[in-house]
Amino acid sequence: MTQQAAAETHEFQAEVARLLNMMVRSVYSETEIFLRELISNASDACDRLRYEAQTNPAAMEGDTALRISVTVDKAARTLTIADNGIGMNHDDLIANLGTIARSGTAAFMEKLSGDSKKDVSLIGQFGVGFYSAFMVADQVEVTSRKVGDEQAWKWSSDGEGSYTIAPAEQAERGTSIALHVRPDEDEYLDAHRLRHIITTYSDHIAFPIHLSEVKDGETTEEESVNKGSALWTRPKAEVTDEQYTAFYRHAGHAFDEPALTLHYRAEGTIDYTALLFVPTERPMDLFDPARKPRVKLYVKRVFITDDTDDLIPGWLRFLRGVVDSEDLPLNVSREMLQNNPVVARMRKAVTGRVVSALEAKAKDDPEGFVKIWENFGAVIKEGLYEDGERRAALLKIARFRSTHGDSWTSLEDYLGRVKEGQEAIYYVTAADIEAARRSPHLEGFAARGVEVLLLTDPVDDFWLSMVHEHEGKPFRSVTRGGADLSKLGEAQGEDKPDDSRFTTLVVALKEALGEAVKDVRTTDRLTGSAVCLVADDGDMDLNLQRLLKMHNQLGTESPRILEINPDHPLVAAMAARADQPGALDALKDPALLLLDQARILEGELPSDPAAFARRMADLMAKGLN
Ligand code: ADP
Ligand code: MG
Repeated sequence: MTQQAAAETHEFQAEVARLLNMMVRSVYSETEIFLRELISNASDACDRLRYEAQTNPAAMEGDTALRISVTVDKAARTLTIADNGIGMNHDDLIANLGTIARSGTAAFMEKLSGDSKKDVSLIGQFGVGFYSAFMVADQVEVTSRKVGDEQAWKWSSDGEGSYTIAPAEQAERGTSIALHVRPDEDEYLDAHRLRHIITTYSDHIAFPIHLSEVKDGETTEEESVNKGSALWTRPKAEVTDEQYTAFYRHAGHAFDEPALTLHYRAEGTIDYTALLFVPTERPMDLFDPARKPRVKLYVKRVFITDDTDDLIPGWLRFLRGVVDSEDLPLNVSREMLQNNPVVARMRKAVTGRVVSALEAKAKDDPEGFVKIWENFGAVIKEGLYEDGERRAALLKIARFRSTHGDSWTSLEDYLGRVKEGQEAIYYVTAADIEAARRSPHLEGFAARGVEVLLLTDPVDDFWLSMVHEHEGKPFRSVTRGGADLSKLGEAQGEDKPDDSRFTTLVVALKEALGEAVKDVRTTDRLTGSAVCLVADDGDMDLNLQRLLKMHNQLGTESPRILEINPDHPLVAAMAARADQPGALDALKDPALLLLDQARILEGELPSDPAAFARRMADLMAKGLN
């Protein structure tokens, strides 16, 4: 390839063009974050090269001191951020700087509201990576030579829809990004100001950042501006909250504040340092089926991988930060991490520390903990299902909604409120909190002042299939046949109904409904509603059936039991009609309507909506005549 080769012009991907348009025209006031983004990328590039060199020592040959340099030239109005990291080739430049790469920028695009004021303020939270350079520069030139390649390439753009790529000369390995600073952004040509920005946002970076100035053709090299040591290796007492936050954002590609910071060094049978964070906001990929953890694994300060399935359990996938092992060999390959006993021991230890930290948070800062639980409880509860060893500890920190007010409750508090004769922890599972509160099954419990947990996460049905009791009390669904209310005493102000009055009606309903129900019976669990559906004791819980059906995982649906409320005027009227001649014919339509009503209360559709509408219309017409 020769220098004469013509530059190729490429259009930016549509999303990038939109983003750049916003960058260029934004009136965002804290444009300084562009430097944090470019330094963060340079640091990632150094990390990746150092990893490469573990298996391919030639990669670092001749230039082993990884560093980042920031050079300002007032006369030329340029600011250059350079690194001797992994570098990019022709195709990397197109893939990384012409499309939306990953993490940061993609998340930003998802959050865009279309309201330009709101969207601009998002820039500060997200940074939006490389493209933020265009907030302060009207021309950006990226020159890069990838490790192992002879040929360097130059990418340049004014951020207005297209960019060019041409072959270039560059002796040094790595990437150099030259910003032509906009006329109204002179502050970024001032070395003092730059030094201040670097110490504010990038002090935690594990590579030295050198700041220098070009004056009268001479470059004044300065000492490293930052400490250049990995933040997690520093003693806790020497790290400020701001530094933790800056590091969290860099390591986690995150934009919020950490809700919980856990920093410790473990010595003894295994030797490692962990700096872990619980985010304040739910990461975008939290409910991704891949359940990928995002913690980074280092070995003796060398970045190894952020593919850490073996290190962090899926139910802690919201954690961000690093674990740095002293025991693993430096040349550990990503494949070697699978089934590695050292990794397995770290996983156990880290999991234990995180659970203890959550427990401590729940105790010392209950309000802060509830915020964490609201975001991540649904994920942590997967641990109840998967990790038998942590089950007891997780049941301790688990928080639930219940019929006892609007706030969250622990199982400990629930047990403190059980009624005399109450032998179980009662719960109802439903698609959302409104549906749970509406559930007719709650009525009998409410009438007796018995508290019921309202569970609304899909995972609830799964862990409840594994976890059968807590502190000697079984978990019992109120939609099961056996939930025995009579043991819990009489509902206030009501007499025990005389069930014999309903025998004929029950027979008539069974006849009318046939296979559609497993059984029909009177119940004392209802007060306001006429009917409800329940699962038989041995059958699957209703909500679990619904859930499996939604995912096409349910083979055959087991028919449910229709329960009728003897105190309801409609049921009483039907019972009276059942004792008269021609009852079977007369009760057929009301019976089917009753069953559909029970379905609707469960959040389902009538089995045959057209037939339902016809029966309903007939009945209403009769009623109005
Ligand atoms: P992110 O850092 O979230 O991936 P960016 O927009 O900051 O998004 O960067 C996009 C991509 O460009 C990076 O993922 C990386 O592959 C590449 N890149 C950016 N800067 C450099 C650099 N200095 N050296 C090597 N690759 C880089
Ligand atoms: Mg980046």
